[in-house]
Amino acid sequence: MSPELLTDTSRTMRALVLHGKEDLRFERRDVLRPGPGEVRVEIGSVGVCGSDKHFYLEGRASSDIVSEPLVLGHEFGGRIVEVGPGGDEARVGQRVSVEPLMADPLSPQARRGSYNLDPGQRFFGVPGTDGALQQYLNVPAENAFDIPDSMSDDAAAMVETISVSLNGVRKAGVSAGSRILITGGGPIGLFAAQLAFLQGASRVVLVEPQSERRAKAASFGCEVSADLASVDELFDAVIECTGVGVVRHDSCLKVAPGGRAIFIGVGAQDASIPMPAIIEREVSVQGVMRYAFTWPTVIDAVATGRIDADSLVSRTLPFDRAIEAWTVPLTTEVKTMIHVNR
Ligand SMILES: [Zn+2]
Repeated sequence: MSPELLTDTSRTMRALVLHGKEDLRFERRDVLRPGPGEVRVEIGSVGVCGSDKHFYLEGRASSDIVSEPLVLGHEFGGRIVEVGPGGDEARVGQRVSVEPLMADPLSPQARRGSYNLDPGQRFFGVPGTDGALQQYLNVPAENAFDIPDSMSDDAAAMVETISVSLNGVRKAGVSAGSRILITGGGPIGLFAAQLAFLQGASRVVLVEPQSERRAKAASFGCEVSADLASVDELFDAVIECTGVGVVRHDSCLKVAPGGRAIFIGVGAQDASIPMPAIIEREVSVQGVMRYAFTWPTVIDAVATGRIDADSLVSRTLPFDRAIEAWTVPLTTEVKTMIHVNR
């Protein structure tokens, strides 16, 4: 069934479209009605991710390459304004946080509980699927999770980032008394630190060169360090959030015998890791790909104040000025939020 156009006056909308390297343009696009099983979301806040910056500057991020015009934006929430045919009309008006990952529930990976590993998955805001930097987006109804009014639009968008951190912290096996090292104090690392404490970690050391980010980490109870070389102890788990080759390598040397090295940061395509330390100490090495089954947990943690999402927003931009998120770097950057309908 081809999507139907709206016939009222709000038939078109603004979208920010990436045409290639360093080429972002505002365009007008048709507003489409949601199909069966979909809801139309009026976009609230959209978070700008490191991967969005790679798409803009290099035309690619990891193995995803921009070959056709693409609307970025995978960290988002908003308000349901229309439900597709046969949908639950009572949801109109509901504020939501949207999980951008769409996997086949019948894929072998999904059936094993890891729908994030489905090779056929689609993902809003990466090549092949337009994202949320447009005024409206139709999403599967089950990907739109209700949020309470106490949660801000920015926090709704941040659920995506926190989900990545939660997946990493789960894989790190954090429990009461754990000693955890986190490399990188961007949003992923800072949320991983908060989640590690929430899971019972007794010590979290966070390594980050930028002083404002270190101050943020310290405010969450972390011990902080500007460089990994000056950290002289071993940890039950290391959560690597930088993607920098040398940090990946050296972080493995900080894992205690029997511990875990968790790799979240993408970046360097190839990296060497110290095999003697990994073999002789029986270190488990684990990658982290997005997340699965995190939204309700994260929404609950934010809504009850156990995770502080709002204080990691370092800049907000109205949609008119969205391009500045890419062109005006901030030295104190943690997370930029774009307010699409304001
Ligand atoms: Zn992201």
